[in-house]
Amino acid sequence: KELSSSQVRQMFLDFFQEKGHTIEPSASLIPVDDPTLLWINSGVATMKKYFDGTVVPKNPRMTSSQKSIRTNDIENVGKTPRHHTLFEMLGNFSVGDYFKKEAITWAFELLTSPKWFGWDKDKLYMTVYPKDTDAKKFWEQVGVAPDHIVDIEDNFWDIGQGPSGPDSEIFYDRGKDFDNLADDDPENYPGGENDRWLEVWNIVFSQFNHTPQDTYEPLPRKNIDTGMGLERVVSIFQHARTNFETDLFLPMIHETEKLSDNKKYEANKRDNEAFRIIADHSRAITVAIGDGALPSNVGRGYVIRRLIRRAIVNGQRLGINEAFLYKLVPVVGETLKSYYPDVLKQKDYIAKVVRSEEDRFNETLADGLKLFRQVVKDAKANHQTVIDGPTAFKLYDTYGFPVELTQEEASDAGLTVDKAGFKAEMQKQKDRARKARSGAKSMGVQRDLLIEIKDHSEYVGYDTLDVDNAKL
Ligand code: ATP
Ligand code: MG
Ligand code: MG
Ligand code: MG
Repeated sequence: KELSSSQVRQMFLDFFQEKGHTIEPSASLIPVDDPTLLWINSGVATMKKYFDGTVVPKNPRMTSSQKSIRTNDIENVGKTPRHHTLFEMLGNFSVGDYFKKEAITWAFELLTSPKWFGWDKDKLYMTVYPKDTDAKKFWEQVGVAPDHIVDIEDNFWDIGQGPSGPDSEIFYDRGKDFDNLADDDPENYPGGENDRWLEVWNIVFSQFNHTPQDTYEPLPRKNIDTGMGLERVVSIFQHARTNFETDLFLPMIHETEKLSDNKKYEANKRDNEAFRIIADHSRAITVAIGDGALPSNVGRGYVIRRLIRRAIVNGQRLGINEAFLYKLVPVVGETLKSYYPDVLKQKDYIAKVVRSEEDRFNETLADGLKLFRQVVKDAKANHQTVIDGPTAFKLYDTYGFPVELTQEEASDAGLTVDKAGFKAEMQKQKDRARKARSGAKSMGVQRDLLIEIKDHSEYVGYDTLDVDNAKL
């Protein structure tokens, strides 16, 4: 069966609605009342208030397609077939209502029934926590062959104190064509490192309370929370080699081809990576800015800045030397409009924010890259393998290179960055700034203001950028 991404999303929601779940809209990427999280990173992250008992849901059964951002995957993007910064997590949730048997039975029905996904059950592998004999039993009851149930010691969801429990992850066998490991590689099994086995769904059975004494007490009311990556499921339905050759990403890739210096996707490996990074990051920043994030030097804003700048540097690889990312904003909007119509409605605002950040970085980019290339050349000539702290800091402070970007580019060139040295330089600059400010304190408000302004014009570049962006 071949389904569009909108159809897959809707099918998941319809299925669980049929099983008595209420469809919850996708919440903003920016967490509400949750200082522990920078971004909403899963469906359950928006439901903490129900799971910890603060709020009682109208219906204990809920389902959603939740936009999520994971910064820990930034460096995976482009390199693996399955990771994004922004992705949608389809989920079903039970707050003290149904538990393991129903969760497993329904998962299997959704995946294999011809009325729903209709996947061949022989392609599926269910991983379970070895001691979770119930999960094993229920998978066998619905008809999964014993050799398709795999014990994995890691399948236990535990974030310290609070609800915890075993989970069961579902892997789809994409076939021999996708093997990236030899048959006898110890990582070659569902749940290992082989791209052949694609992790599509994680079903968490939260049945214990992890106590402050580090014991696990059974919870009186057990919960279910699950997460299925929409983009991965779509890649299966659309027979795509990776998540990127689907209707969710190809439009941005094709637009980037047009903007590039005659480059074609699939032309060679390094170019592919650049196309994928641009498609992924343009999507993430578009949706995040639509949700109210803005580029800056701290927190969420820094993530936006880092993604935009990483995308721009990858644009350079494709021969794009002027602002272009903002042109992808409406393309992203089109790919998501059936479920997120607001993105397209806000496209002019979002494009304006992106454009302004692009223009700013582009002012120093050419010089920054020149410096970077020189540094690499010198290092090679001197048989050095490390870019020192002051250089990394200059790239950051004067040329706007997020240090992670410098690290990544360095690693491509076979070098590393002295991160501790970089941090030391950063601290020195902060100390200088603090000193300058406290010296001015006694001179009164008016004077303070002047110093403030002067401070900013002296900071060549990076630290001042927030101020301007905040006005947008
Ligand atoms: P992986 O091992 O592939 O990194 P994960 O085990 O970290 O995934 P979970 O935390 O179990 O992922 O999240 C539930 C589901 O969300 C995954 O099974 C996958 O389908 C999807 N998912 C997780 N991270 C990403 C990502 N960065 N991009 C796209 N989909 C993701
Ligand atoms: Mg992961
Ligand atoms: Mg995993
Ligand atoms: Mg997982």
